Amino acid sequence: MNVPPTVAIDAWRTQPCSDTTITGLEHARVALSVHAGHGPGCAVYLAALGHVSSVCGR
Ligand SMILES: [Zn+2]
Repeated sequence: MNVPPTVAIDAWRTQPCSDTTITGLEHARVALSVHAGHGPGCAVYLAALGHVSSVCGR
């Protein structure tokens, strides 16, 4: 299993709620944990949820 570089993970952890860029499943997992509980105003969380659903829902 590929482990993302630390710099990438740091960038994901500081990603603003309005930035809906999700680069992959690991990014989505980090975004889901960082942005959980932010509420409906958090666009990253919804984008990550959508990404995970499309990957795992096949
Ligand atoms: Zn957020």
